[in-house]
Amino acid sequence: MMPSAAVQESFDVYSVRKHFPILNREVKGKPLVYFDNAASSQKPQVVIDALVNYYTGFNANIHRGIHSLAEEATAAYEATRDAAAQYINSPSREQIIFTRGTTEGINLVAQTWGRQNVKKGDEIIISTMEHHSNIVPWYILAQEKDAVLKVIPVSETGELIFEEYEKLLSDKTKIVAIGHASNSLGTINPVKKIIQKAHAAGAVVLVDGAQSSVHLDINVQDLDCDFFVFSSHKMYGPTGVGVLYGKYNLLETMPVYQGGGEMIKEVEFGRIIYNDLPYKYEAGTPNIADTVALKAAIDFVSQIGKENIRKHESELLAYATNQLQQVPGLKIYGRAKDKVSLVSFVVEKVHPQDLGILLDNRGVAVRTGHHCTQPLMDFFCIPGTTRASFAMYNTIEEIDILVDGLQRAIKKLA
Ligand code: PLP
Repeated sequence: MMPSAAVQESFDVYSVRKHFPILNREVKGKPLVYFDNAASSQKPQVVIDALVNYYTGFNANIHRGIHSLAEEATAAYEATRDAAAQYINSPSREQIIFTRGTTEGINLVAQTWGRQNVKKGDEIIISTMEHHSNIVPWYILAQEKDAVLKVIPVSETGELIFEEYEKLLSDKTKIVAIGHASNSLGTINPVKKIIQKAHAAGAVVLVDGAQSSVHLDINVQDLDCDFFVFSSHKMYGPTGVGVLYGKYNLLETMPVYQGGGEMIKEVEFGRIIYNDLPYKYEAGTPNIADTVALKAAIDFVSQIGKENIRKHESELLAYATNQLQQVPGLKIYGRAKDKVSLVSFVVEKVHPQDLGILLDNRGVAVRTGHHCTQPLMDFFCIPGTTRASFAMYNTIEEIDILVDGLQRAIKKLA
């Protein structure tokens, strides 16, 4: 079942599907068509095996034991740090902090770097298309500090209006927190350009990579971002673990996040010396099993090949866009030139939730609602969309099933 060690030369979606046992199941008597990948992707057998192997082979707490199991568990946990560092081209493993996921990564930065650096009257820039995870932590910080949250507007096609962003920047801007790719629209934002402009204004930049880390090649050094966060579960890994990357000098000088075991070197009641990076930000027993299994996901994606995956997903996106826009009364939201592989749409006179239920009856899993981007839905004056988001294992035939299911559903509902 393992892919070969080298990147697969040719991409065969039917071979890829064999790695994902869940794809064999049926829903409501129909083969599962899983198009909710932007919410969470399915797991290949190698990831499931990594979890089982950890618990059956070498489960122990890490970093503190000197017995063999503790050493093996520590080595496996730390091997994921190396794999994650390589995955995003971090200059060092010390700059990889394990978190619960993207949400915790953003909260960590807001509560540490943010609390230390954002003062009354300072400005924080986000965008209209941010996920709530990249809005709420900054809102909390702005409230606490009496700082100002500024929002980059988007166009009707679902792209950031860059000139407006430039106008928002000033010497009051302390941080720009921006999604690399939109979970609701698919838009890939020009983060490198955004970072250059922010740096010229003296601000730091956090990139929310929840939707990009699975689809795009991530090179944090080339981007020159100050922070980059992502979640394992959206890139074929387990839930409950994610990564925060930060520039070394920032991570080193930021105050600590949570207090507890492992994040300290010495504790006296009147004096505590905190641990070095990356452990300074990893208080308590971490999510060892899922972190260990994240390496299996990273290796799996690397072996299939990001380039192969991107090409396949682009074909799915082009085909789905073309087929869906022929459905009468259907409007696609998010028509940016550069998109990750998802399509969000609304059908005239049909509530997305009703569509979702009828599609589920045909075995098709799509996401309906505001996708945790309420301000974006408000901008488009809609309550929500239906979203089909694709992964490496989806096929053209599955898109045909979606479109057929939609047409039948519309006949019933419209
Ligand atoms: N940011 C974006 C763009 C997302 O799509 C998501 C999840 O859907 C998140 C942040 C939050 O990720 P998590 O729930 O894994 O912390």
